[in-house]
Parts: sequence; C-alpha cells; structure tokens
Amino acid sequence: MTRQRRPLSATRLRAFREGLVAERAQLAGHVVDLDAEADVKNWRESGFDDDPADAGSASFERETAQSLSLHARNLLSQIDDAMRRLDDGSFGDCVTCGLRIELERLEALPYTTQCMDCRRRAETGR
Ligand SMILES: [Zn+2]
Repeated sequence: MTRQRRPLSATRLRAFREGLVAERAQLAGHVVDLDAEADVKNWRESGFDDDPADAGSASFERETAQSLSLHARNLLSQIDDAMRRLDDGSFGDCVTCGLRIELERLEALPYTTQCMDCRRRAETGR
C-alpha cells in the first residue's frame, strides 16, 4: 500500500486547526492552574506554623504541579509548532522522510512530526 502524497483537504486541515486551538486553550488554562498551585504550595511550605510532615507533602505536591506544568508547556510548544506547520502548508508531512503522516496517527496526535515508521525507527535506534 502506497501512502498518499495528496495534500490534506481544506476541511480536514480546518478540523485539525480547530482541534489544536481548542487543545491549546485548554492546556494554557492548565498551565495557569498548575503554576498557581505550585505557588500556593511554595508559600505554604515556608509558613512557620506548618508542621514538618505537612511541609514535606506540600513540597511533593508542588513538585508534581511543577512537573505537570512543564509537561503542559512542552505540549503547548508542540501545538504551536503544529499551527505554524498548518500556516506554512507542511502540516501532516513527516519531518524525517517527507511522506504524509498516517491520518489515524495525525488524528490521535495532531502535533506529531513523524510518521509511524520514522517514529519507530527513532525509538529503536535503527
Ligand atoms: Zn517518516
């Protein structure tokens, strides 16, 4: 089976863009929440009336919020990249082999930059 090189239809591209915009808005909201949470935890940790057990768990929760926030930011920048590719017309093309990324893969991960074959090759190092 040969892979299509035909450009994605305008309707499909619009759907991808709408999905990305919605996901981006949601993620941006998460980042704000997570950062606020990390801040509150930070403040509580330095509170002099907290007992040490509370401070320990606050620090753990703060680290969790920080790492989730970092993850969300990372995803946000991938989404921004995908939107740029939508603008310049390279959306849906594998950055490694240049072939069209499988539609099912794009639908599951619209901000992916590699087709399944290249991804697998990158993962196994072959
Ligand atoms: Zn590829």
